[in-house]
Amino acid sequence: MTATTASAASSPVLSTTPGLVNAHHHLYSALARGMPGPSRSPRNFPDMLSLVWWRLDAALDLETIYWSAKLGALEAALAGTTCIIDHHESPRAIEGSLEAIDKACSEVGVRVNACYGATDRWADDGSLHEKVSPISRMTKGAMAGLDECDRHLSAGKRGMVGLHAAFTCSDETIEAAAALAKKHGVGVHVHVAEAIDDVAAGARLEKHAADDWLLVHTVHLDRPLRGRIAHNPRSNMNNGVGYAKPTTKPNKVLLGSDGIGSDMAEESRLAYARLREFDLAATPDVVAGWMQNAREAFPESRDDVVTWRYPEANSPWHGAFTTGMRVERVVAGGRVIVDHGTSLLVDEAETRAKAREAARKLHQRLENM
Ligand SMILES: [Zn+2]
Repeated sequence: MTATTASAASSPVLSTTPGLVNAHHHLYSALARGMPGPSRSPRNFPDMLSLVWWRLDAALDLETIYWSAKLGALEAALAGTTCIIDHHESPRAIEGSLEAIDKACSEVGVRVNACYGATDRWADDGSLHEKVSPISRMTKGAMAGLDECDRHLSAGKRGMVGLHAAFTCSDETIEAAAALAKKHGVGVHVHVAEAIDDVAAGARLEKHAADDWLLVHTVHLDRPLRGRIAHNPRSNMNNGVGYAKPTTKPNKVLLGSDGIGSDMAEESRLAYARLREFDLAATPDVVAGWMQNAREAFPESRDDVVTWRYPEANSPWHGAFTTGMRVERVVAGGRVIVDHGTSLLVDEAETRAKAREAARKLHQRLENM
């Protein structure tokens, strides 16, 4: 037992929990805050993608990917999140993108399970297709995305094989992703029926899906599908896609942020409030179970120690109703990565300043696109 865990055990102020896990993140979104607004107000989910997120990811280069991941990893560490399952896309900077993310996270001291989300939405002539025919051929972009996953996994790094979503992928690409995942003994990390526009996902994925797949959202999933579910309540509310009703599905449920930060204690409080709106009989133990399932998917987190400035952080009932519970100290992989609420392995002020500079360049590029 370290000095801090010993003192936390007897402190009237402090208590400890294992490390928190963000089961679905987009580290590339950390620099999106303050980005130039869309040309018109998004009216539906496909608008949100084409007017905001697909503009942003197309503007990323390896430098902005690195600083975005570094800022995202820093904010995760400061919130006690020591492990991140990330889903990345940067269609104009695919090769080397996962290495940039992996480097940024390891410098901060958090672990990342990375994948590149392969997609056929960028045709070989560079034009954008919001929907892709299942019978179309695999694009060069999708092939490059799968190659990036293959390179990352072949280098012995933690990762999965990524697919954006069935509605932007051909059957050929889905099949190739499933085969690549099998070859590496990992699952596929894929957005599934996030909005009604992707309601065909279940039918298209069911012959490939396996227990080690990570199915993200599943709000409009119309059938049983093998895999673990990553539930992202804040993002679902923000995009107005509906409630995923995770307690009605037989799958193991994990909690993710879908790119809106990595404060998983905060995400769990929101998840609980949204669950109660759906089922008044639900207790905080349900959401604590989702956090625990995420730890099982990223077992290293269980040995990490987060010290909170609150004496009963371990109690689901206290956790659900104690807003603003602050992290004092984080030990990850045996190293102290956060102490007195700030990062020890990287300088917080310098990282924020450099990330702000990278964001300025990225937003400038978006203005000019
Ligand atoms: Zn997502």
